[in-house]
Amino acid sequence: MSIRRLPPELINRIAAGEVVERPASALKELVENSLDAGATEVAVRLHAGGLELIEVADDGSGMNTDEMRLALERHATSKLPSDAIDRVTSFGFRGEALPSIASVSRLTLESRARGGVNKEGGGWRIAIDHGERMGEGPAALPPGTRIRVEGLFEKVPARRKFLRSPRAEYAACLDAVKRLAMARSDVGFTLDHDGRRILTLQPAQPPARVAELLSHELDRHGIGIDCVREGSRLTGVISLPTFNRGVADQQYLFVNSRPVKDRLLVGALRAAYRDLIARDRHPIAALFVEVPLDEVDVNVHPAKTEVRFRDPSAVRGLIIGALRHALDEESQRSAARSQAAAPVMWTSSDSYARDLERERPPDAGVREEQQSFIPVSFVPQGRAETAVDPVPSYPLGVARGQVAATYIVAEAEDGLVIVDQHAAHERLVLERMRAARQGGAVARQALLIPEVVELDEPDCDRLEGAAAELADMGLDVERFGPTAMLVRAVPAALGKTDPSGLLLDLAGEIAELGGPLSLRDKLDHVAATIACHGSVRAGRVLSVAEMNALLREMEVTPRSGQCNHGRPTWVKLGHAEIERLFGRK
Ligand code: ADP
Ligand code: MG
Repeated sequence: MSIRRLPPELINRIAAGEVVERPASALKELVENSLDAGATEVAVRLHAGGLELIEVADDGSGMNTDEMRLALERHATSKLPSDAIDRVTSFGFRGEALPSIASVSRLTLESRARGGVNKEGGGWRIAIDHGERMGEGPAALPPGTRIRVEGLFEKVPARRKFLRSPRAEYAACLDAVKRLAMARSDVGFTLDHDGRRILTLQPAQPPARVAELLSHELDRHGIGIDCVREGSRLTGVISLPTFNRGVADQQYLFVNSRPVKDRLLVGALRAAYRDLIARDRHPIAALFVEVPLDEVDVNVHPAKTEVRFRDPSAVRGLIIGALRHALDEESQRSAARSQAAAPVMWTSSDSYARDLERERPPDAGVREEQQSFIPVSFVPQGRAETAVDPVPSYPLGVARGQVAATYIVAEAEDGLVIVDQHAAHERLVLERMRAARQGGAVARQALLIPEVVELDEPDCDRLEGAAAELADMGLDVERFGPTAMLVRAVPAALGKTDPSGLLLDLAGEIAELGGPLSLRDKLDHVAATIACHGSVRAGRVLSVAEMNALLREMEVTPRSGQCNHGRPTWVKLGHAEIERLFGRK
């Protein structure tokens, strides 16, 4: 056997194996190029999860014809002007994405240099089919660049085999866009999939952009992070330990504005929550690490998703220290809040999450309102009750405050009422769902953006098998690739909820009950699981209006005196009992 130099075609394909694993990785490279070119608007269009088409158009610098030809050659880059690979701040620097993608797809590159340096005046187009130049010619487009990638891996069976369903590939593409959109909040983004507009992001400050892309519940359940230590800085937002997910899919990590999936950072995040969160649960986080350029090496991984820190333990220390501190502070603050004497305890704190809220466009706030956990109709209209009001004759009385952020204390005409808020609310949600089911149609709340929930394959099979029954209860789920489900609507009775935790628990429930759900009484189990997810957690601080709304609803709901597990939801200390306690009788 003789040694030979590989032809450039083969070299590109080999590189493509590392750089372009699936549509999402090609998309990531293209968007990164747009950002590196100084784009202020990036428009992404996908068909069939990117398997049929990935198109990225930008209003960046554009290229002239010679630059376009060069861009398609291997190891050609405009991003290392001084060969200083240790000081690179652009996303790209390896000069291999375009030729690699072009070697495993049909790629059309169109570009027009800003300022009209093009000899042709307008734009230019170069078409490549699996590495082969198919032709070029003038193209009409505004200054900037548009790249279309069609039939990715169609002629590479070895790769094609590993691709997943269009839906799963789409989920990965969406994730890639979200990560880059968080990294560069100053840039506007749109994303269309199969002709539908999925995302429209206006340029924004980082907190507002993060808030737009993360779970909206983080406004209430998030803690802002901003910590500086020895020239390094950590900013972002993390979820309270009580607000967690069954999958680690909402963890966004950035090093010097570069999205990474770095093991060191993920490990540090995990470690910060140790003892605060169950082993199989995961916090939500968007964390931005900024370190001096010479402290980090980005040239570690062909897809540039991992980095190497010169002093890993310092970075780990920064993250664990900052997060631990913030989590401790927050737990003290909520404890202090619930001890406060003032009747309204839903005080705003100075957290980053709430700053986010202020920066949000007003329409985002409206959605928040609609998702409030108690239907608006139950919140008493008009004047709020205060401690000086006479006690109206409600059986469960008037809310006077909250104990340990878990129990509502109310004053009734004949004594003191203590309500377990989670147990009570869980029951109300269950009864609401039952009533709705008997009445025929269950009100469902369509999600503005259907949520993709990653689960393992058996769990997906179970949920898919029960989809018709779940739809009966207002939960619309459908299969979204081998290991994901798409949630389109949730029962309206639930209010705001976390679909991923709900689906995980439901899958477990269905597995335990065995077989597909056919009997109506099995549905009650499932309804109870759903209800538990829709309920006010213990530990959540409630406003007086929210507490009273809960009490009023309990009074008119059958079986509300017991929680779904058979424990009481409230107890009453009569005046006589109180007097006995104090030896007055
Ligand atoms: P790299 O990004 O590592 O330089 P690529 O293969 O991704 O390598 O791109 C090669 C070159 O093509 C880039 O260095 C850049 O000069 C040019 N280029 C690619 N995409 C664009 C774009 N959207 N706008 C302007 N120039 C681009
Ligand atoms: Mg690049």
